[in-house]
Amino acid sequence: MTQLSGKSIVGFRRGASDGDPIHAINPATSEELEPAYHSASRGEVDEAARLASKAFETYACVSGKNKAIFLRKIAENIEILGDELVARATQETALPPARIKTETARTCNQLRLFAALVADGSWVDARIDRADPNRQPLPKPDGRSMLHPLGPVVVFCASNFPLAFSVAGGDTASALAAGNPVIVKAHHAHPGTAELVGLAVSRAVRECDLPEGVFSLLYGPGREVGRQLITHPLIKAGGFTGSRSGGQALMKLASSRPEPIPLYAEMSSVNPIFILPSALCERSEAIAKGLHASVTLSAGQFCTNPGLVFIPHDRSEKLIVRLGELMTTTAPFTMLTPGICSAYREGVEKLCQNHRVELIAEQKVNEAGKCLAGVALFQTDAISFLEDQSLCSEVFGPSTLLIKYSTRGELIDCARSLEGQLTATIHADEEELNNSHDLIAILQTKVGRLVFNGFPTGVEVGHAMIHGGPFPATSDGRSTSVGTRAALRFARSVCYQDWPDEALPEELKNANPLHIWRIVDGQMTKDSIL
Ligand code: NAP
Repeated sequence: MTQLSGKSIVGFRRGASDGDPIHAINPATSEELEPAYHSASRGEVDEAARLASKAFETYACVSGKNKAIFLRKIAENIEILGDELVARATQETALPPARIKTETARTCNQLRLFAALVADGSWVDARIDRADPNRQPLPKPDGRSMLHPLGPVVVFCASNFPLAFSVAGGDTASALAAGNPVIVKAHHAHPGTAELVGLAVSRAVRECDLPEGVFSLLYGPGREVGRQLITHPLIKAGGFTGSRSGGQALMKLASSRPEPIPLYAEMSSVNPIFILPSALCERSEAIAKGLHASVTLSAGQFCTNPGLVFIPHDRSEKLIVRLGELMTTTAPFTMLTPGICSAYREGVEKLCQNHRVELIAEQKVNEAGKCLAGVALFQTDAISFLEDQSLCSEVFGPSTLLIKYSTRGELIDCARSLEGQLTATIHADEEELNNSHDLIAILQTKVGRLVFNGFPTGVEVGHAMIHGGPFPATSDGRSTSVGTRAALRFARSVCYQDWPDEALPEELKNANPLHIWRIVDGQMTKDSIL
């Protein structure tokens, strides 16, 4: 068993234990868990940033094959933690062991997917425009470009994914894959889980003979450490998953620095579902069951939780009754933190008080001191929805709002009124889908992922996945935090003009020694250049 120390990991050293202490809280029992975790000092933040900046000089030049060995080693070290990791993460989050195991597997698969990406090497988007000295009226220079890493990246752990969006989660894996050192800011909800995974990453850095500073893990409840990190002059980018207010505060800090940096924040999404009339008639029971499962999965604490469901008014009765039954018989959930639980209860209460909204089903929970929350199902009509912007706000938890539309025009107006989202879903039969160009055209401008006849929860980690979307879903709708494209956010292109072959990076040399895909004079090829 690992002896948890409660201290930050600053390069290869452990932090001091004189900063403000916090304890993780078991949300199922409200017990404080040992040990106390100590906030990193300003000196430790500075030391981690200095080490990361120094390490960047070496790590940026590590070959794709060696970065792949490192990423695979991290995955192996996490797997070795086995039951110890499951036990601690379960205690800190109240998520069931099966979920923690699945999330651990996803985290390790994600690390290996990025390992495969960088071992292959083609991700750097190498482009070569050969010189033409005889071109008229001016000779054409030789131009070659590829992606290079940005520099030290700060990653903020997410409360709702103690593994897959935390210490060695997607942001860390993609930043390391792209060649950037990472400093992780732990989340106060699961500091012990963070320490276990942090030690596994740190061990991998040593085992792969990489420089100190490629990885650090800092504790810092109270926002100060996060603020110091994102404003530190040696930090070059950030990744965040959490609340809209937190993400926007960090975006502001990142953009108002003397040297502004990108902060990739994934914040708030209500993941609308649009159910068209024939689909509802044909599959009312299946839609009710699927919707119920999606809304209540992990107590609704997913960024892809469907918070708005548009249904045709004249055919809605059966769905509403069935969904109401399913919700009423769903036992209350233990939520991740007291803060998330009280935010959820406030969100539900606000909807209960809204005169435009009707409560259909609710599980009342009255146990003080515990992070328990019951499901809630609400309905309103499209006109009321269009008149009240507050109905678009995320209620993070097992709740959803049904919106009854009476005309196609109302449905389209509702779609048009939405803010940026991670996902949107359409339930339709073939003919309805063929007649939905107007709806699809609107949704394409609003979301990162369009789901057909399914549900938005469950994000596949792969090459094609987009887990992003226009503001406020994220701070930059051009990128994704899941899937191999995530590496692109932590890289930028550099062009070498008329550079001697021997001095070029391997990826751009004439002989193509890495055998990667390149665009040579506009054609995708693996061929060398004579
Ligand atoms: P959060 O409050 O946004 O915090 C996430 C991380 O960002 C924490 O490490 C926090 O530091 C840091 N942070 C937040 N505001 C900051 C600021 N102004 N300056 C510097 N650092 C800052 O998110 P949360 O604690 O996970 O949950 C709160 C609410 O966020 C939930 O109730 C839910 O509504 C929403 N949420 C949404 C999603 C989603 O995927 N859509 C996921 C999780 C949470 P500290 O630890 O020091 O506070």
